[in-house]
Amino acid sequence: MTRIAATPEPGVIEASQRLEGATPGETLRWAALRYAPRLAFATGFGPEGLVLLDLIARDLLSVDVFTLDTGVLFPETYALWRKLEQRYPLRIRAVRPALDLEEQAARHGAALWEREPGRCCGIRKVEPLAEALRGHDAWISAIRADQTVDRASARVVERDLRFGLVKVNPLLAWSSEDVWGYLREHDVPTNPLHERGYPSIGCGPCTSPVRPGEDPRAGRWRGRVKTECGLHARPAVLPSSPSPR
Ligand code: SF4
Repeated sequence: MTRIAATPEPGVIEASQRLEGATPGETLRWAALRYAPRLAFATGFGPEGLVLLDLIARDLLSVDVFTLDTGVLFPETYALWRKLEQRYPLRIRAVRPALDLEEQAARHGAALWEREPGRCCGIRKVEPLAEALRGHDAWISAIRADQTVDRASARVVERDLRFGLVKVNPLLAWSSEDVWGYLREHDVPTNPLHERGYPSIGCGPCTSPVRPGEDPRAGRWRGRVKTECGLHARPAVLPSSPSPR
């Protein structure tokens, strides 16, 4: 690991400034024009991801769509995955960890998520994502700026120093209301758990319902300092990254 500064990248900065007022569809089309077919989209089938999935499918954009199948997703999430593949003319690739659940338990002990969720996310999410992004020039994420303090500092287009490629965030300026308005307008299927008190859904062992008035992400890793699985974190110590395009 090498400490490097977030050096200015004119191409990325200018693109981000140009796209600041763009619609998510315009940003996605720009990304596809510039980076396809070396453009990936990782979705966990949250409301924001479903908006992007719908837009990608509508425009038949050439994007490598995948989901991180940790092996402990909710049954409702697996069912939604199948439903989306029936609805849209695209394949949603499964990206799985190198260790299955039995191998992880044998090597690190049972229910690693209870003892070391950071390590568990590393094995089941971050490492598989890094592997899946290898060979791509850019990836699309469904983050919104108002979700966490960390996400508030993201740009529409930015250099992802953690994974060494460009990251495109088409929904950065959208609110939760914008997202749900789009899903209702286009009749996009969503995870039924949202109606049972789960505004943000991750792995089964680490997601609990949220009480009225709580932060929408309060049910993720409840009772722990952890708020992100590490996919969108901005590290202070950064790996070396290749030159910008
Ligand atoms: S969210 Fe929980 S179960 Fe899923 S990878 Fe992270 S720690 Fe493991």
